[in-house]
Parts: sequence; C-alpha cells; structure tokens
Amino acid sequence: MNVADSQRVASALEKQGYQASQRIEDAQVIVLNTCVVRQSAEDKAVGRLSSLKPLKEKNPDITINLMGCMVGVKGQEKLAKQFPYVDVFSPPSDPGPLIAHLNDEEIQNMEASETATRFAYMDGDLILPLHEQRQLVSAHVPIVYGCSHACAFCIIPFRRGIERSRPVGDIVSEVRSLVSQGVKEVTLLGQIVDRYGKDIEDGPDLSALLEQVHHVDGLQRIRFLTSHPNWMTTELLESVAKLPKVMPHIEVPVQAGNDQVLDNMKRGYSVQDYRELIQKIRRIIPNVSIATDIIVGFPGESDADFQDTYDLLAELKLDIAHLARYSTRPGTVASRRMEDNIAEEEKMRRFRVLEELQSGILAEINKKYFGEQVEVLFEEEVKGRWKGRTPTNKLVFVHSENNLKGQLLPVQITWAGPWSMQGQVISPTGGISISLEPIKSEPTVH
Ligand code: SF4
Repeated sequence: MNVADSQRVASALEKQGYQASQRIEDAQVIVLNTCVVRQSAEDKAVGRLSSLKPLKEKNPDITINLMGCMVGVKGQEKLAKQFPYVDVFSPPSDPGPLIAHLNDEEIQNMEASETATRFAYMDGDLILPLHEQRQLVSAHVPIVYGCSHACAFCIIPFRRGIERSRPVGDIVSEVRSLVSQGVKEVTLLGQIVDRYGKDIEDGPDLSALLEQVHHVDGLQRIRFLTSHPNWMTTELLESVAKLPKVMPHIEVPVQAGNDQVLDNMKRGYSVQDYRELIQKIRRIIPNVSIATDIIVGFPGESDADFQDTYDLLAELKLDIAHLARYSTRPGTVASRRMEDNIAEEEKMRRFRVLEELQSGILAEINKKYFGEQVEVLFEEEVKGRWKGRTPTNKLVFVHSENNLKGQLLPVQITWAGPWSMQGQVISPTGGISISLEPIKSEPTVH
C-alpha cells in the first residue's frame, strides 16, 4: 500500500513539474513515506526523519514532507512539536497537503524566479525513485482505503481510517493509464480487499470489479491482496478461476492456529473455518498458490497454542507464510488490555521454528516445478539475471543477453529452491533459446 501511495505522490509531483532526484542533497522536495505497522518500522522512520534535520538546517528553503501511517489520519500536533523542521504532514494515500503547500503563493513566487529544474526525492522502504516508477512492469492500485475491522493487534484502522472504496470508473481509468505507460500487471490493494464495495450502497463487489479491469486491453495479469477469511466468497473464487488474466494466487492471512488466540486477536473466525476455506480455494482454483500471515508471540500465546499454529502450517502446506513477531502498538486493543508477556527471545525462537518448517514445505512444493514449463512475466534485470514471476507468484531467474523486461514468456524450470527458481526461456519453435550458466548459489530472496 505504501508503494502505491508513493507512486501517487510521484505522479502528482511530476504534474507539478518536478523531476526525480538521484541524490537527496539535490532535491527541493523530500518526501518520507512511513510505515508503523511494527515498532521496528516506526523506529526506522524516526531515525530516517532525524537524519533529514541537518539538510534542512543547511538549506531552509527545501520542503520536507512526512507522509504515511506515522502521520495517520487524525493530524500531527505531537509530530510537529517533535520534528519542527518538517514542513508538511500528509496522511496515508493523500498527496493533497504537499501539493497545496507547493502551490502556496509565496513558494510559487520563490520558485518561479528559479530557472533550474526542480527535483523531488522519495524516501522510505521499498520506494523507487520517480523515474523508475515510470518504467514499472507491475504496479499497485489501491481499490479500498482504510479498514473498519478491529483486530486487537493492529494499528492500521487508527492510521488509515475507516474503509473507503474507490469508484469502479476511477480504478479502471487508472489501470488504463498505467497500461498505456507500459504496465502489464496490476495488483489491486485493500487492507481487506474482498470487502471492496461493501461501504457503498448497492455497490459493486470485487468480482464485478475484476470483470471490469479484465476488459482493459493490453493488461496481461491481475492480482489482488489482502483477503480476510470471512469475506472470501465462493463467487469471488469462481471469478478468479474463470478470468484468465486473474492469477491463481490468494493472500489470506490466518495469523494463528489456535482458536483462543484467534479470539483474543478478534479475527472473527476459527481454525476450522480457515481450514475449510483453504480446501474450498484449492477445490475451485486449480493449481492455486496460497500465502498466509502469522504472528508469533501474541499476548498469552502458550507453548501449546504455538504448537497448534505449527501443526496447522505443517498440515496446510501453504506456499508462503509471512511471519512476524508480535510488537505492541500503542492505541490498539491489545496494548490496552493485554500484557506483552512473551519474552523477545521466545518470540524469536518461535519465529525461527516456523521459518524452518516453512522453508521445508516450500522446497517440497517448488520441487514439483522442476522440469515444468511455466509462463513468466519478466520485471527487471538483477545482477545479470532476469527476474520474473509465475502465475502463482513464484520468483524465477533466467540468464539472457536479451531485454526481457515486460515480456510474458514460457520458461522451463531447471532448478527449484524454496525461495526462487531458475530456468531457461523456451523459443517459439519449442527449443531452449537462452543458455544458462551453471547455478552457483541460491538468490537471497525472501
Ligand atoms: S483486517 Fe485486521 S489486520 Fe487487517 S488491516 Fe484490518 S484491523 Fe489490521
């Protein structure tokens, strides 16, 4: 979601005549987009923001914009006191305050007298420089902002506000515009993406939206995330199975494998509900891959509770498990009512145990790809190899002298590890068209 928000700001700045700055020191505008979903992310954002102070002292004319979940939707009084050198505070997904500030008459006058190009620098985890954002093969498109659920551990509803779905027409126009710039794949985003349209009376649902986006000429792939188990309808799954551009990959977090922990988390489903949902997804969408999220060390999670999570993961054998150690977020139900009583070392131990289990599961799953032919959409060259993804969202690397960016090509898998695979592009005549160097080491991708 933050990447999508940054793309939105980048685009707004470009419309104002700004260009991407390669170096932060050359920029007239610096945007720091922040995430506070975990304490470590917030600490990092604060550290980065503090490092901008000397720049502002050296050049008071620059504009520093702090945006994202650190600002939240409710204002910035405390932050303004703590970081007086920040000029503009913007809530998540909203370039408005920055653009209004830049359009301020005084600033306009000052900048109008400059003949030099104006530069902007985007900062924050996973944020690409402006010029690279213009050459993306795969782009993120928010379709529903905020979240009206209230999981006990989660700060997002407090920072991103209540659920607000975007109109179908806006989304389809944005997708068309992205495709005209070279994008081949879009990922539709929402905190609970399958609740799309539920906040609009007689509104469309995600199935209807997928149908509309599917009609966009030139678009090759559609993904969506993140789903909530309670809102994954049979109709939605059937749409995924039916629409060829919608990829067979579902991100549906379980968070824990024990009913009492799920109840404490206020997730709203049981382990058995989740188990049945996974069976249904696999029944309706052939060769589907499924990703989940798990938090270890939630307040009160006993050894036996954790063992239940381990057993569930071992039983379901999902393709991806995004693991996180619980950290208290001030303001959440968990922070007010539950003691963070699992030691950090124990959280780390549980994290490592699941990581090892999942690594073995993935190695097993991915082994089945060995020798198979899969369709890969290539995104970029990384250290001399072309990186792309299968429909099931598996990373594939190939060696090639050719520019494969944006191409959808058949690839034969020649090596499959837990985190990525390697292969050879198959020529239209059926032969292998691109030679591979011997595999030396597994890419460090997680
Ligand atoms: S569904 Fe729960 S975890 Fe996801 S954003 Fe909403 S409150 Fe947070």
